[in-house]
Parts: sequence; structure tokens; C-alpha cells
Amino acid sequence: MKPLNLLKHEIDKCVRCGTCRSTCPTTKVLGVETASPRGRVSLVSAYSSGEIGLSETYLKHLRECTLCGACRTNCPNGVDTVSIFASARAEAVEKQGAPLAASLAFRGLRDPGGIVGMGLKLARRLQGLLFKDASAGAGLVSRFSLPLVGNGRLIPPLAGTFFLDLPEVRAYESSKGAPGEAGKPRVAFYAGCGVNYLMPWVGTKSVELIRRAGAVVSVPGGQACCGMPAYAMGDLAAAREMARKNLEALESSGADLIATSCATCGHGLKSIMPELLSDDPGLKLRAEKVASRVRDISELLLNDLGFRGAGGGSGASTVVTYHDPCHLGRAQGLREAPRELIKMGRGTVLKEMKNPCLCCGLGGGLMYTNYELSMEIAGKKAENIKKSGADVVATACPGCIIQLKDGLHRAGVQTEVKHVVELL
Ligand code: SF4
Ligand code: SF4
Repeated sequence: MKPLNLLKHEIDKCVRCGTCRSTCPTTKVLGVETASPRGRVSLVSAYSSGEIGLSETYLKHLRECTLCGACRTNCPNGVDTVSIFASARAEAVEKQGAPLAASLAFRGLRDPGGIVGMGLKLARRLQGLLFKDASAGAGLVSRFSLPLVGNGRLIPPLAGTFFLDLPEVRAYESSKGAPGEAGKPRVAFYAGCGVNYLMPWVGTKSVELIRRAGAVVSVPGGQACCGMPAYAMGDLAAAREMARKNLEALESSGADLIATSCATCGHGLKSIMPELLSDDPGLKLRAEKVASRVRDISELLLNDLGFRGAGGGSGASTVVTYHDPCHLGRAQGLREAPRELIKMGRGTVLKEMKNPCLCCGLGGGLMYTNYELSMEIAGKKAENIKKSGADVVATACPGCIIQLKDGLHRAGVQTEVKHVVELL
């Protein structure tokens, strides 16, 4: 990642035209200039030139950005707003340090078997005491007001057994393929935190589909968090350490391709891992080689493995609408592949909602730094989902799934939320 002082030319490219304002999810809710991409670029420009300091107000406006990238995509001058905002956050953390809770969590997420993994196993035992089921099994709500959780917030239950601890997954750890499988493509599956701790069934279904599409699957040990939450919060030291761990784990798998069912992890491994390791030319080269083999599950199945559907669909009866995760549609340019998979689902028909690529409000750590704003953005998404009349909203990112469930629950909308692979 380039430090802020090397992004002056990028900041200066902004001609203050305001085209980006209409696409920004935070401008849509707050409506003020300081909550717009143009306003944020101006604030970072003023900070860089020493006109303003590292004040709480400056940081608040910076942290209200979801890093969704809609402004970058729609800027006629090609201003790389996301790099500007991410570098500004990193500089703030470098000068002030990361918040203690985030810093401890990121330290733990470097090793799923380490302190955070153990802490989550303990939390799994306590979750029944602290939380109760919300309507229709959509998630849990707290019985009392708890720090970080608050009243009425819908959170996903921790999995009974984490994906990487499942015996059938452990058996895949160093799978080189059974006799007779020589010549088949070898795919390493990268789980990421959402699939590992919260949605292991998305991982097992993904592995099953990859195998059905004719590849040999391994699930390499030593996987860490993809580093994107730490990167978004500006904790580059933590993000770099995770990138190095993942590089080693994925390199040693020896696989032809690397698949993930998380849009954020996919973007992190494809683009941010090489960026984080770019200070060391040797590591950067190795990271670029690994990154070139990373695929989202939808592009792997359709483009690399020629998957042609589960074959169980007769008489469409489930109307499905699709939410484009920012890290898949905009960051990876993958809009058609997940929609193709939905059309191949068991009895599914795709119906588009209005503005499917509008951010759900989760990104950039907003659901932690400003939960109310993140929920107001999710409310706009919930409105579009409701108006589509769909039975199910599918997406391709565990983070978006959590946010959509919470937003729909809050808006009193009953639409089910699923990962695309669950429809196959
Ligand atoms: S970031 Fe781009 S679209 Fe937004 S005001 Fe600047 S030049 Fe215009
Ligand atoms: S990245 Fe998204 S939330 Fe942030 S300023 Fe740009 S459009 Fe707004």
C-alpha cells in the first residue's frame, strides 16, 4: 500500500465535480458533503497539506466510509478514492495506534487454532445464556444489552464445529487425490473467518460442488484470516502478518487453483495480499503468483471447471434476487457468474432488485464503528429486496449475509438470505 504522501497526485486528480456523490451509500443516508466521496477527498487533502490535524471529526468522517468503491468506479477522472481513504486510515493508526479491542482480535485471527479460536469455542458454550433465537431462526439477539452487540442486533450463531475442525475437512488437509484422480485439476479451498466460524455448511457445499465439477480438493492447514478487516481498519502490521501466513499456506498446497466462497477473502487474496507484501520484491512476486491462481467459487465452477448445474431443477418455484457484494462485483468484476449459478439452482428463477450493487453497509468496519449508520444503509437494501418480491436473496459473501439478515430483520422483511452455493 502506498503511504499517503505518495498519493498526492491521486488526491490532486479530483476536480470536485461531485459525480461520485450520487453513488455513495453514506451520502444517500446522511446527505452532507462531509459524508460524500468528494468531501472525504477534500478532508484528506486538507490533512495531507497540514491544514487540519488528526482530529476526532476528521477520523469520524473517514471511518463512515464503507470502502465500497462505488465512487472510484464512477469517477470520470479515475481518482483511486479507495486507496486514498485506506492509506489515510493506515496513517491514522500508525500515528495513534489501533483500538485495543481490534488490535487484540486481529492478533488472534492470525491463527485460527490460537487465542481467538479458543475464545470463540468458549463463547459458543455461553451463547445460549447470553442470546436467544430471533424469528424464523434467522440469527440470535442478545437477552441483555452487551458491549459491541447492543439491543436488538441480529448476530449469527457460532457454528457447532468450525469448518476447519470438521473431520471430513481435516481429511482434505493435504489431499493429493485418490488413485485414478491423476490429471484432474487440483483446487485448494480457502475458508476465511465467515465460513470457518459461522457458516461451515457453505464451505462443505463448496467443496462438494468443486468435487462434483471434477477437481481434486484440498483444504490447506495454516490458513489465517484474509487480513481484509485489519486492512480496512488501517492495522497494516496485522494485515501483513496474515498475508504472509496465507501466502505460505496456499503456496505449500501445490494446488493449480485456489477457491474461496467469500467475496472479501477473494479480493483480499487476489489484490490486497500482493499490495501488502509489495515492500519485499521476493515476497511480492510469490504473492502475485499465488494471487493469479485465486478464484471466486462462481468463476471457478463456471469458467475453470465447466460446471453445468446440479440438474435437479424442474418447474421454477423459488424467486431469487441477487445482491452484488462490493468485493465481488466491483472489486473482481464478477457479476454474471453468480447469477448464472442462481439460474442453475434447484427450481430457482432470478429476479433482479433495484440497484443490486448498492453496498449493504457492512464494509470498511462500519458495522463496528457506526452501527446505526450501517443499519440505515442496510435498510435501503432491505427496501429494494422487499420490492423485488423475491422469496430468497442470494449473495456470495458471508459478511453480506450477516448484514442482510440483520437489515431485513430490523425492517421486518421475511425474505430468506442464502449463499449462492446453497441453491445448487
Ligand atoms: S472523486 Fe472523482 S467524481 Fe468525485 S468529485 Fe473528485 S473527480 Fe469528481
Ligand atoms: S468508498 Fe463507498 S462509502 Fe466510501 S466514499 Fe466511496 S462511495 Fe462512499
